[in-house]
Amino acid sequence: MMSDKKIYLDYAATTPVDKRVLDAMLPYFSEHFGNPSSVHTFGQRTEAAIEAAREDVARILGCNIQEIIFTSCGSESDNLALRGTALAMRHQNGSNHILISPTEHHAVSLTAEQLRSHFGFELEYLSVDSFGQVDPEEVEKRLRPDTAVVSIIYANNEIGTVNPISEIGAICRERKVAFHTDAVQAAAYLPVNVNQLNVDMLSLGAHKFYGPKGIGALYVRNGTPILPVQTGGGQEFGLRAGTSNVPYIVGLASALELAEQERDARRNHVQPLRDRIISRVTDSIPDVKLTGHSKDRMPNHASFVFQGVDGNELLMMLDIEGYACSSGSACKTGDPEPSDVLMSLGYPTLWALGSLRISLGTHTTSEEVEAFLDVLPHTIKNNRQLVRAH
Ligand SMILES: *Cc1c(COP(=O)(O)O)cnc(C)c1O
Repeated sequence: MMSDKKIYLDYAATTPVDKRVLDAMLPYFSEHFGNPSSVHTFGQRTEAAIEAAREDVARILGCNIQEIIFTSCGSESDNLALRGTALAMRHQNGSNHILISPTEHHAVSLTAEQLRSHFGFELEYLSVDSFGQVDPEEVEKRLRPDTAVVSIIYANNEIGTVNPISEIGAICRERKVAFHTDAVQAAAYLPVNVNQLNVDMLSLGAHKFYGPKGIGALYVRNGTPILPVQTGGGQEFGLRAGTSNVPYIVGLASALELAEQERDARRNHVQPLRDRIISRVTDSIPDVKLTGHSKDRMPNHASFVFQGVDGNELLMMLDIEGYACSSGSACKTGDPEPSDVLMSLGYPTLWALGSLRISLGTHTTSEEVEAFLDVLPHTIKNNRQLVRAH
């Protein structure tokens, strides 16, 4: 059955820009267009907008304005944190060891892999439990005197699991090792106070919390050694050259402010819908497992593996029915390989290939969820029949 109205259940891939955020951005395209590095009034006006945005972000993160670096996206923030700190630490004291979890976003894991393959760093992966959660004691055991940087994802985009960042951060702090967390997925719903989290670096990307795509931020605690990855002009305290993207910086700050103000209301809206999906799917469909943690998980996030299902085919079948979901990370769509994250949790390939992620947002209604839950069981059944016929 072809449906005209498409229902969006993929907020972990990206979110629509909030109308209030768009309104805040619009004057900075054509009206207030000056280069914020210029001395004249045109420049002063946009510089003031950037500095106001930086103050807003710093207040929400609980840090100083000099500790906020605007970047082009969450991926760039992750790259700057990992590559910048690893290279600076090695230059400073010869540290050569990088410690990450096996459930990092590719923006972290492939940066770390490149630091290993092309820059001679020693890369070590922590182990995780079957929910994809890192044990702080495990971090403590693996830290070495020559560890340059530790990076652990705050909330995983594929399986929704939330890590005990504050506990891990306390351990790294005691051992004086730089600790980065990728909070790109987490920031939409979880607290981002960098002192409560005990982090030295934290990555954000606006499009995961109703801001625009193509803008991110990196928190860098004062005193953390970090080498700029992009050199040129002195913007962003010399850590990120390039004329500032004024409207998008304004948009990121506005979106983060709204996320902070509306955090509880947003959570209260999505969490019961998520719980409804998890219980209905696990009760009504055979050979299914919830992936990720049952309690320590993103409130808008439900993810599963179905034995004997072709995940990519399932997404296409659901799209025809009118539902936009994901099999995990948006970057992997069309890739027949099972996800690294699911494989690191120990799922057999036949399960890992049948993954489905449903992520909800402010616009999701319970009618949409019920309609989806009515369609899913027979879609899974048809998919399994197709897989068996091949
Ligand atoms: C989306 C995402 C990224 C990448 O952010 P972009 O702004 O799209 O580059 C990194 N890490 C996590 C956990 C994400 O969910």
